[in-house]
This record gives sequence, C-alpha cells and structure tokens, in this order.
Amino acid sequence: MTAAVAVGLEPRVLAELRSVVGDRGLLTEPEDLRTYECDGLTNFRAIPRAVLLPSSTEEVQGILRVCYREHIPFVARGAGTGLSGGALPVADGVVISLARMNHILEVDIPNQRVVVEPGVINLDVTGRVAAQGYFYAPDPSSQSVCSIGGNVAENAGGAHCLKYGFTTTHVLGLEVVLPDGTLAHFGGKTLDRPGYDLAGVFVGSEGTLGIATKITLRIMKRPQAVRTLLAAFNSTTEAGAAVSDIIAAGIVPAAIEMMDDLSIQAAEAAVHPGYPRCGGLLLVELDGPEAEIADLMDRVDALCRKNGAWEIRLAQSDLERALIWKGRKSAFAAVGRISTNYIVQDGVIPRTALPEVMSEIERLSTQVGLRVANVFHAGDGNLHPLVCYDRGIPGQEAAAVALSERILEICIEQGGSITGEHGVGEEKKIMMAKMFAEPDLATMQRVRCAFDPLQLSNPTKVFPRPRLCGEGPGEYLPHPLELQGIAERF
Ligand SMILES: Cc1cc2nc3c(=O)[nH]c(=O)nc-3n(C[C@H](O)[C@H](O)[C@H](O)COP(=O)(O)OP(=O)(O)OC[C@H]3O[C@@H](n4cnc5c(N)ncnc54)[C@H](O)[C@@H]3O)c2cc1C
Repeated sequence: MTAAVAVGLEPRVLAELRSVVGDRGLLTEPEDLRTYECDGLTNFRAIPRAVLLPSSTEEVQGILRVCYREHIPFVARGAGTGLSGGALPVADGVVISLARMNHILEVDIPNQRVVVEPGVINLDVTGRVAAQGYFYAPDPSSQSVCSIGGNVAENAGGAHCLKYGFTTTHVLGLEVVLPDGTLAHFGGKTLDRPGYDLAGVFVGSEGTLGIATKITLRIMKRPQAVRTLLAAFNSTTEAGAAVSDIIAAGIVPAAIEMMDDLSIQAAEAAVHPGYPRCGGLLLVELDGPEAEIADLMDRVDALCRKNGAWEIRLAQSDLERALIWKGRKSAFAAVGRISTNYIVQDGVIPRTALPEVMSEIERLSTQVGLRVANVFHAGDGNLHPLVCYDRGIPGQEAAAVALSERILEICIEQGGSITGEHGVGEEKKIMMAKMFAEPDLATMQRVRCAFDPLQLSNPTKVFPRPRLCGEGPGEYLPHPLELQGIAERF
C-alpha cells in the first residue's frame, strides 16, 4: 500500500525523511496520525503532517537537518502523558516520537549513574537497578508509562520529590540534538562542571530547545526502612496545619500527600484503597535508618493528633503500603468515576497559605456550582485541584476553565506558581504574562532564540503570545496599538 502524501509536506521532503528513518519510521496515513493528535490534555487537538519514529541519535539529527533546511516546525513526543498540551502537534509541523529510543545504555552502580535513551519509561530505571539496592527517585504518578525524555522536558515531580528533589536534581548530563541538527553535550557524569549549566537550562524547557537523545541520571541507594502513615482529619485546614508543624519540627518526610473528601470518594470508587472517609487525609511517608524513622514516626503521629487527627493507621506490610499509594497515584484518573469531565489543575503556593487557599477554593466552588476535588503534594504546596464539570451542560466547560484559571491567579497572588510539575505547554501560556514581568519573559525568549533561532522546536508553546507580524526573535518591542492602549497582549 502506498502512503498518502501528508498535506503540506512535499513528496521530495517526505522521501528524504523516509530515507532517514526508513518506511517503518514515517507515518502519514490519517488514521495513524490521529493517534498523535493530543497528549493527556485532550481538549487541545491537531493532526500533524507526519510522524517520525527515529531509532537513533543519528536519525534524530537527520530529521532535524531536513526540518531546519525546509523550515518545518517539529514537536518531540515521549509517551504523550503530558497534562499541559506540550506534545500537541503544531500546525504544518511534524511529530518526532522518541518511543523507539527506549534502551538503558549503561548502568554504573559504583558511581550511581545510569545512561538512558529518552523513550525509556521512568519506572523501568528503578526496575533495572532495584536488585542492586538502588532506585531512581523522581516518581510522577504516571511513572509506569511516562518517558524519561518527557520527564526531563517537564522537570517532572512526584510524591517523593519533597525529600529527593525534582527531575532536575537527578539529571546530570544530556546529549541533545539542537534544532539545526547539531549534536551538543551538556553536563556529564561528574558534578560541578565549568561553564554555564546548560543541562539545568534544558531540563524543564518543554521541548523548545531541541531533542534530548541520551540522559545521564543519578540513582540513589534504597533506604533501609520505609514507614507510611495515614491520618484522617475533619478538614484540609487541620491536615494543612499538621503538615506545617511536621516540617517546622525539622522532619523531612519522603512524602506528604493530602486528599480531600471528594478525591477520597473517587479513589475509593476506582481502586478501593480502604481510606477512611474524612475532610482531609494525610499520607506521610518516612524513610531512612530503622531506628531513626521509628522515633520520627512517633513525633509525626503526635503532631497529627495535636492538629485533630481522629484516626491514624500505620501500614503494616508492603502490600498495605502499596495499596495506600495506589489510591493516591490513581487519584487523577479516578475522578472520572465521579465526574463526566474534569480539568486537572497544577499550581503552587507557599505551604503556609494552604488553609487560606483551600477555603477560597471551596468558596469559589460553591459560588460557581462546580465540585472541586483536591489532591496534592502538601509538603511542596503543590496543589492539584480537579475541577469537575459536564461538557454536555451548556456553559459548564467555560465556567470550569474560568474557575481553574482563577485558582491559578490565586496561586500567583500568594507568591506561588502556575505550575508545579505539569508544565506550561499550550494550556497555560496565556498565564505566563500574569506570572512574569516582561524582562523575565524576554530573557527566556533570548535563551530560546540562542538554541533555536528559527523557532522550529515546539514553537507555539510556553510563551504567552504568538510573535506579532514582522516581529523577530529577541527583545520584545511593544506594538504601536499596545502603546496606545488599543490592543492587549497576553
Ligand atoms: C494520570 C497522570 C498522572 C500524572 N502525574 C504526574 C506527576 O505526579 N508529576 C508530574 O510531574 N507529572 C505528572 N503527569 C504528567 C506527565 O506524565 C509528565 O509531564 C511526564 O513527564 C510526561 O512524560 P511523557 O513521556 O508522557 O511526555 P510527553 O507528554 O510526550 O511530552 C511532554 C513534553 O516533553 C517534550 N519532550 C518529550 N520528549 C522529549 C525529548 N526527548 N526531548 C525534548 N523534549 C521532549 C514534548 O515536546 C512535550 O513538550 C501525570 C500525567 C497523568 C496522565
């Protein structure tokens, strides 16, 4: 069967791309392309002109050289679990899926390093080193399916990042194909290399600076013991006060997660973790030497009771602990059990603002008439309000979008952030101008232009506005209409 010619890509370009990746590495059939039309944020969709599935760094280089010469925009894609539309295809562009570059290339236990290709699944890194007593710390709830390349691009977090740090703490080196096809290396296996920290710049850049093709990760020694506690409170305010007290006492839990009543109901309906029904549930995990965590867990227990915990359970087995985590890690998807549609929001506030912000979310939810389930990494102040709505009811989707944007504004007003871990992508670029001053955004744009002068790499994402007609990359120059107060910029 001959492949249909994708609209917008000339046959000679397709032929050249095919010569780089082979027949099996180029998709152009409409039904194949549709698989790639969105990521985990399904309300944004676009069909790419073609999808490329390279198997090596050299093939990625070959693809990007063609894209650069022909001015074809491209979007890298890992597992497509992103929740901010980062892997959403761009008009007239191609998607480059890294799914076939899924090999663990090197395991160096004595130096605690692992080198992987970008398509390796997060949990497989731990799977590979567990027998030797090691683990890879960043643990997004999607870790059984998301890729390390996607984690790097989003600077992914997870429940255990409170103690161990986000992805950026664990990425030591990167091999990157720049948008013109050049191969560059940032960082390496050893620490504190001279020059700019370009690995740090690349992590969290959401696919806008090129494509990571090899990643050197730090792995960690598995702690001697792990203890997990569940504490039930009447409200998230009481549970939030317990979180503040635990951290103020100098205890650094491996994780502190919070769920409200609605998210407990959802988790219960989906995976039956057996949580107590309550207004605010805390899940506290401590790890380290056995004797030390036994003592710290007693203190955590006392601080929870002091703040009103009326039921405390300590997991008695690995099985029980796994079930507790299953409930928490399934919480986003579980909301589908209680609501036809929902928006997964991701914002950050200072931990101390938790009671005030939770009350305000509750007030807004009542005012708008939409339920909001809350699941969050309480230790980092990283909220995940899940705004429930029904697309079939006229006006509800718009009300849900407005409510979730208002929640992000509250995060900014509290000195927090519009994203803790899911990234800006397509969804939140409009909020960037609310969070950053123009010089901050302009500086970021200059970095982007240095890597990608033609703006081909995921070009429409992260930054708040399409560049105005005739506006070149670099420092922002206000449009005359803006200066006259006639047009507004987002
Ligand atoms: C149920 C569920 C739970 C989740 N929980 C969490 C969580 O706890 N913490 C968290 O941080 N996230 C979470 N996420 C979001 C998502 O899983 C993460 O953002 C993850 O890092 C995305 O990885 P991916 O491989 O799916 O990337 P994709 O969605 O395919 O891509 C994400 C971004 O990375 C870019 N990209 C991909 N590969 C490369 C590469 N090799 N080089 C350059 N850029 C690249 C893409 O262009 C895109 O901008 C969750 C998602 C779901 C569906």
